[in-house]
Amino acid sequence: MKRLVILGGGVAGLSAWRRALARGFDAALVERCARPGGLTRSIHVGGFVFDYTGHFLHLARTAHPDRLGTPRGAWRKVTRRAGCLVAGHPVPAPFQYHLGALPEPVRAECVEGVGDLLARSTPVTPVPGEDLAAFFLRAFGPGITSHFLRPYNRKLLATDLTGLDAVRLNRFFPAPDPAAVRAGLNEAAGLSGPGSSPGQAGSTYNATFWYPVGDGVGRLVDQLDPGVAHLQAGVDAVDLGRRVVVAGGRELPYDRLVSTIPLPDLLRACGGDRAAGAGRLASSGVVAFQLGVRGPVAPLLTDLHWLYVPDPSLAFFRVGCYSNVSADLAPRGCHSLYVEVGFAGAPPEPGALTGRVLDDLVSAGLLADPSRVEVLLRHVIDPAYVHFDFDWARTVPAAFDDLEAHGVHCAGRYGRWDYLGMEDVILDAAALVDRLPAG
Ligand SMILES: Cc1cc2nc3c(=O)[nH]c(=O)nc-3n(C[C@H](O)[C@H](O)[C@H](O)COP(=O)(O)OP(=O)(O)OC[C@H]3O[C@@H](n4cnc5c(N)ncnc54)[C@H](O)[C@@H]3O)c2cc1C
Repeated sequence: MKRLVILGGGVAGLSAWRRALARGFDAALVERCARPGGLTRSIHVGGFVFDYTGHFLHLARTAHPDRLGTPRGAWRKVTRRAGCLVAGHPVPAPFQYHLGALPEPVRAECVEGVGDLLARSTPVTPVPGEDLAAFFLRAFGPGITSHFLRPYNRKLLATDLTGLDAVRLNRFFPAPDPAAVRAGLNEAAGLSGPGSSPGQAGSTYNATFWYPVGDGVGRLVDQLDPGVAHLQAGVDAVDLGRRVVVAGGRELPYDRLVSTIPLPDLLRACGGDRAAGAGRLASSGVVAFQLGVRGPVAPLLTDLHWLYVPDPSLAFFRVGCYSNVSADLAPRGCHSLYVEVGFAGAPPEPGALTGRVLDDLVSAGLLADPSRVEVLLRHVIDPAYVHFDFDWARTVPAAFDDLEAHGVHCAGRYGRWDYLGMEDVILDAAALVDRLPAG
């Protein structure tokens, strides 16, 4: 029987483990936390259910969430209602398809800037070496770039967009569809709320998502958990020559290793030149605040699942309302929010950010009264967003080739050092284990 060691027990690691046990591997999972699930866990406190910031299951490859593991309860399909907070107004997302709903003079500037692009017969695509800031200007025009794309992504990724590779990021920022932009020009400001706007639902890949009935997204972890105890330990070292993982003072020999821990951490655990290579992998983090609040949600957030916040003077880049997604997530008469702040480098002390976040929520009209906050949790997610800089293509594929030559396979969002959602990491980790020889 082949020995398979899996590093990291988020949904990718759990999916790999489940499949490995089913296929008859002698499999072990190393996870540093007592409770597996990683970023997909939910937290139950004071009658509220929070996720580790908003986590919504967008399915592109699976018919129903029950197909991801063993069904543990009902799921509901939800049509996304997202907005962008621009000059104090919530306008529907995606921004570029609702220009008519923007307040003046933002509307006029965005419309003027996008004008020439609408006449093009072929979509604008990035050229090799083009940075994201330059591509935004060329593909979306100066108005959309300066009022939304540049400030929002600057806050989300906490880095200068001129250092990011537009070719690699194009799948997240395709040039706008001229017909959809034109349709959005006719929207009257103030008449179509973010939830009711035509075109919102069909215009992007994640227009719908699934969410558990009666619980948080952690339901997905329960579906994947094979019910076998994992080794609770951090990975101290990986000896590629001897094929041994050192964790929690134990040596775990393997024939194959599946790693879902962040790629830089794996490379550091391997030591030598590989550890030095870890320093070339860039990313940013997120401080996530979870708020359980007495009373109704602020009018700006009524009916919305989340708001993108490009304004550089406000600390957060996104604010969402869990209880607008599912009323089960907050006690009656209360609502619950998540608030996300991006950072680069050393994580800020979340406690020190709290006052600023609360003040900014109040000044933006997203929280009526901080004294109504009954539960306030803070989490640092680091890494949160991998940076597709110009080093990524030079570094990451070569690292995978080198590791695979030693029987080490990477999976998961941070193992692959990529932007991957829950569905992809679950399916890809299982498919990876299917390709490994078990006997
Ligand atoms: C802000 C934000 C919002 C998101 N929203 C969505 C969304 O709405 N929809 C969606 O589909 N996806 C979303 N995602 C992505 C989603 O979180 C990931 O796709 C998914 O959680 C990745 O699972 P994973 O198992 O690959 O990684 P993780 O969940 O990060 O799990 C990795 C595990 O490895 C463990 N680990 C790490 N280092 C070590 C070590 N050295 N030793 C032992 N164990 C270790 C960790 O404790 C963790 O349990 C979001 C991500 C972020 C950052």
